[in-house]
Amino acid sequence: MKRHQHNGIAYYTFESLDRFDELIHAITTRHGGISVGRYSSLNLTTGTGDDPAAVGENLERVCAALNLRRADLVSPNQRHTANVRRIEQTDRGQVYTGYDVFVTNQPGVPILLRYADCTPVLIYDPVHRATAVVHSGWRGTVQGATRAAVEALGREYGSRPADLVAGIGPSIGPCCYEIGEEVANAVRAAFDRADELLPVRSGKSRRHLDLWAANQRWLAEAGVRQIEVAGLCTACRVDEFYSYRIEGKTGHFGAVMALRHD
Ligand SMILES: [Zn+2]
Repeated sequence: MKRHQHNGIAYYTFESLDRFDELIHAITTRHGGISVGRYSSLNLTTGTGDDPAAVGENLERVCAALNLRRADLVSPNQRHTANVRRIEQTDRGQVYTGYDVFVTNQPGVPILLRYADCTPVLIYDPVHRATAVVHSGWRGTVQGATRAAVEALGREYGSRPADLVAGIGPSIGPCCYEIGEEVANAVRAAFDRADELLPVRSGKSRRHLDLWAANQRWLAEAGVRQIEVAGLCTACRVDEFYSYRIEGKTGHFGAVMALRHD
């Protein structure tokens, strides 16, 4: 990924998605906002106790940096599912609860999902000009939220997996994501060769979960060949992102994607 700074807002983009002029996308950081304390500073959620006025200003700043209108944002309260919602022009400004995968082919309708360790997956079909944004923590990953996104792009817009360009964004990495047996068993139930996704650190008994490899697996098995993995761990990089695992009650950064108006 490439880091950008614009009017004090720091954000990342996937180099593989940067080449499409019709696409706006970003993974925001914690830098450039007005939230204070544990939320410092570019927190994009009101769901963990931050001042709503500060979050509102932060959203305004992100939208200004990306040349989007805040009133157009579709910004759901995600719920760790693999449920898919197709977004239309009439959905501008709406908040939907109970979905973790959003697809659209409508220009000017930016989709913003929020993260603090869960994995953002952004997918673009340059042939049909359709996008998908996925929120995939361990629950979404074992439920195949990323696979559901590829399937939805195919069903709704005729996307072919071989045309898709996918980015797996910053999230808690295999270095830091120690898990219990319950989660390990859910991974074993969801994936063949699950041990590859459940590394053990030397001298330790508990397994770690590799969310990046697991989401890459869903994409590859669905036929997606162009996959960029950020390889940025939110728990290693609390200087840059928010991490629930490290910080407990904290803010959220965002993944935003939109098709430009013609
Ligand atoms: Zn780490």
